[in-house]
Amino acid sequence: MQAELEEIRKDAREKLKEAKDTADIERVRQKFLGRKGVLARQMKMLGTLAPDEKRAAGKLANELKEKISAQLSVRLEELREVKSGGKDGAPFDVTLPGKKQPVGKLHPITQTIILIEKIFGELGFRSVRGPEIETEFYNFEALNTPGDHPARDEQDSFYIDKGILLRTQTSPVQIRVMEREKPPVRIVASGKCFRRDATDASHSPMFHQVEGLLVDEEVTFGDLKGVLGVFLERMFGADVKTRFRPDFFPFTEPSADVSISCIICGGKGCSSCGGSGWIEILGAGMVDPEVFKKVNYDPEKYVGFAFGMGVERIAMLKYGINDIRLFFENDMRFLSQF
Ligand SMILES: [Zn+2]
Repeated sequence: MQAELEEIRKDAREKLKEAKDTADIERVRQKFLGRKGVLARQMKMLGTLAPDEKRAAGKLANELKEKISAQLSVRLEELREVKSGGKDGAPFDVTLPGKKQPVGKLHPITQTIILIEKIFGELGFRSVRGPEIETEFYNFEALNTPGDHPARDEQDSFYIDKGILLRTQTSPVQIRVMEREKPPVRIVASGKCFRRDATDASHSPMFHQVEGLLVDEEVTFGDLKGVLGVFLERMFGADVKTRFRPDFFPFTEPSADVSISCIICGGKGCSSCGGSGWIEILGAGMVDPEVFKKVNYDPEKYVGFAFGMGVERIAMLKYGINDIRLFFENDMRFLSQF
């Protein structure tokens, strides 16, 4: 009887595979599981067997019945899916276009920082980061800006506690690196800075800076001009001219304000450059010996230069953006263009 049950099992599987619709399935059900079906006939024959055989064959017959019943349900479900076109039951139109998956990308400010770091990286500068919450010592005093210094007024900050503030510049990172490491030092530090500025087209209370520092035994102002000249050419194109004018920063002496020839009018003068043909782009200078004393570098032995720039300003010039607020409004129509 086992052999017969095995035959029934194979037969049922074949018939189910051939079934094309629910009517076919119903015919298979009747043939195998119906009251006058194949299995019912086998069950009747059980009575003719010896008790031992009867128990074994009965068990097999029951298992087979359950198996065929389960296969019927599965096949029925398969046929329903084919008919409706998908598991969710909705009609499926193969001619419809696919669903587009939105792909994220880096913010234009992040892209600009990466580009600046790449250019300086090729010039041998290592990228470093530092804390956004600073002490007054690192943010001001170590940078030669004591409490009564007028430069502090320009950098009114957000204080968290007495002597603890959101950094107003990335320069404190330079101090932290010089405390840790002996010259030669060649770094660029980038990140967020904060000042209590009212928001307008060119000011934001949160903005980004990249600052560079090079300290070694024989460094001249000529090296500074060379490094910044290469950087500005790679950033804004080989045609760009650079201009250095005397300026003041507490932590450099001499200090310079660096401009590039206007990339809109090419130096002829237009509304973007206020008719001058020049656009101020960064500040730089030779590190003041007083700063070296604060970090125990010998000012008789070491010389260095430092420079700093606003990332938003670089990005606005490079991409022709006229309002700093666009960077932080998170409008995808703006951000997706970069
Ligand atoms: Zn211009």
